[in-house]
Amino acid sequence: MKFKQEAEFWFIVGSQHLYGEEALQQVAAHARQMADGFNAAGRLPARVVYKLVATTSDAIEQVIEDANYDKRCAGIITWMHTFSPSKMWIRGLVKLQKPYLHLHTQFNREIPNEGIDMDFMNLNQSAHGDREHGFIGARLRLARKIVVGYWEDAAVQQKMASWMRVALGVMDSRQLKVARFSDNMRDVAVTEGDKVEAQIRLGWSVNTYPTGELVSYIEAVSEAEIDAMMAAYEEKYTMHTDQLASVRYQAKLEVAIQKFLEQGGFEGFVNHFDDLYGMKQLPGLAVQDLTAQGYGFGPEGDWKVAALARVMKAIAQGDDQGTALMEDYTYNFAPNGESLILGAHMLEVCPSVAAGRPKIEVHPLGIGGKDDPARLVFEGKAGSAITASLIDMGGRMRLIVQDVKAVKPILPMPNLPVARVMWKPLPDLETAAEAWILAGGAHHSVISYSVTAEQLADWAEIMGIEYVHIGSDTNIAAFKQQLFLMDMAWKLK
Ligand code: MN
Repeated sequence: MKFKQEAEFWFIVGSQHLYGEEALQQVAAHARQMADGFNAAGRLPARVVYKLVATTSDAIEQVIEDANYDKRCAGIITWMHTFSPSKMWIRGLVKLQKPYLHLHTQFNREIPNEGIDMDFMNLNQSAHGDREHGFIGARLRLARKIVVGYWEDAAVQQKMASWMRVALGVMDSRQLKVARFSDNMRDVAVTEGDKVEAQIRLGWSVNTYPTGELVSYIEAVSEAEIDAMMAAYEEKYTMHTDQLASVRYQAKLEVAIQKFLEQGGFEGFVNHFDDLYGMKQLPGLAVQDLTAQGYGFGPEGDWKVAALARVMKAIAQGDDQGTALMEDYTYNFAPNGESLILGAHMLEVCPSVAAGRPKIEVHPLGIGGKDDPARLVFEGKAGSAITASLIDMGGRMRLIVQDVKAVKPILPMPNLPVARVMWKPLPDLETAAEAWILAGGAHHSVISYSVTAEQLADWAEIMGIEYVHIGSDTNIAAFKQQLFLMDMAWKLK
């Protein structure tokens, strides 16, 4: 499973003709040097391409139209080396459809004591030019990221990289296809949602296919294909069962599901344990191994969590420390703010969050009435992470993001036959769960050790959906007031 395109980011540097041709040549030379420097530093997830020194409305409109239509362009990065009157940016910026980073930096790090004269002042005035540029972004109400600091500093480039990853997630989101095998679990509310609204806002194309169509793919899988998949399992996982026929059936499911998804161009999929007509097991190991390769998955028909998982994997691409479907399962209450959540699912947690080498095991499943499914069993790793949930509030989507501290599970739980992750939500379980429930967060979520709350806030802003954060500074009274005010604001939008 690959992330689709070679993405690039366009560096557009603003100036004007007031300072003469020589100054514009210097601006262009500096801009080229900066783009080369960004690419050589090795911190950015994609290439920065210097485009032009923009000095007229025509040129600005043209480069933004080109950015909109260029499939490789994941976003634009603007910087005003000199003053660049912003009324001439309006014609272009009103058309902008790509993510927008305003880099507020300057070519020189320090003020040169002897070198500073009026020519230097005219050439190096981004402190002044970027304020003019910032005003027009504010006036146009554009979604934008502003990164401030010296362009060669690691911290600045890391902030750029973090936002660029969000833009890669936007690119993935806008062409994301999810296949649903079966509909939503009967009577469950939070996994439902408006698929038309999701496609308008987020670009997600979500459509249902009969389980029987997948079964025809399953029946066509050859023994040789199963053998090859079993060999791949043996490389990645420890076989902790002698019920190899069960494991081989999951291999068969994986080959079939992957073929179906590849042929249809899907990056995510959904199933439902109550509709496995013609299948012998609920896909467990098969789903886990597919999600480790970058697919998003949602159980019980939950297409929102499948697509969100895929988008978060796209944001983390190339450097994913673990991003997985998760479900708040049960609590370990303890005094002094040390209560913990045990997260798991029936089977389908992605092994990218595993602390060690996962084991393949076969155990009965209490629901669904099918054969005992093979699955990966492992402990989740310790570390800082987030959990995220996307819900449909009726008229808008709300993204809820929770900061968590994952820990090594405090109990071995030898009779629990599924993957498990344990974490403390910040500031503490009692406050965090109250806030999560007030906001309407689902039982399904996506946990990620790579994607940050700031990245999802940026993603939500670009996509035009509501964003709610729960973290160390969450205060319930203020949080309730925020939900109340946001509800009014979104109704007015
Ligand atoms: Mn579930």
